[in-house]
Amino acid sequence: MSNSNAARDIDTSRPHSARMYDYYLGGKDHFEVDKQAAETVADAYPGIFVCARENRAFMHRATRVLAREHGIRQWLDIGTGIPTEPNLHQVAQSVVPEARVVYADNDPLVLKYAERLMRSTPQGRTTYIEADVNAPRTLLEAPELAEVLDLSRPVALSLNALMHFVTDAQDPYGIVRRLLDFLPSGSALALSHCTPDFDPGTWEKVTAIYTGAGTPVQFRPRDDVARFFDGLELLDPGVTVGHRWRPDAGQGASGSAKAPTDAEVSLWTGVGIKP
Ligand code: SAH
Repeated sequence: MSNSNAARDIDTSRPHSARMYDYYLGGKDHFEVDKQAAETVADAYPGIFVCARENRAFMHRATRVLAREHGIRQWLDIGTGIPTEPNLHQVAQSVVPEARVVYADNDPLVLKYAERLMRSTPQGRTTYIEADVNAPRTLLEAPELAEVLDLSRPVALSLNALMHFVTDAQDPYGIVRRLLDFLPSGSALALSHCTPDFDPGTWEKVTAIYTGAGTPVQFRPRDDVARFFDGLELLDPGVTVGHRWRPDAGQGASGSAKAPTDAEVSLWTGVGIKP
């Protein structure tokens, strides 16, 4: 992409997680510095490309299951990332054209591409807010959010590949609790989270690379990821490795010839409903 500095606050001197993730997904919205950091991660963990793709595939399936089987019509997606087709609202609106989606991310670069997240069906609605999950109250009280979501009706909170950027010192469980407290009964949490469980040595290296690049991360074991669902009713099959969560809800062939390994995927995923 061009090095236009017209957009506010876009720091091209150091890698950003959103742009590194864009690189893993084969996108074009990253800078050289992001590519280099992403390739350092890929040298330590070649599975990262599979992980990123399976993470998107989980989001697609979880969104379809919530729309089809649990009556969800509204989503709050925090840590949206640089838009990647299909985006969550496109998946949701393919099932329920009237679906409403609020996207939020704290990286100004994502804001730059937010227009791509606004291409809603005429029956539905989407918006984007620049917000930090570490300030959940500010995020929830954003006027744009209230324009799109009816908080008296169920909302699916989508936190995909986000909470490993919130370390224990930042109170990740308290943050998720505060977000869910704001949502009515019947709301959902769909979450994916990278884990060191299947290959601890590799994930130690990945942690060091992100932290060294100025992005603190905390990849968590299964029990710690499961804690995000405390108080919720977990949908079958519970907290599972990404590609094992409701593979039946996929869209036919994924394009990959062979099934990925748990170590390649290295993502715990789950969906829970608020009683
Ligand atoms: N949810 C998308 C993208 C995941 S990449 C997907 O699963 O495909 C992680 C995203 O989280 C990045 O876009 C990054 O900018 C964002 N992010 C990281 N820390 C954040 C924070 N504290 N608040 C909001 N967004 C954050």
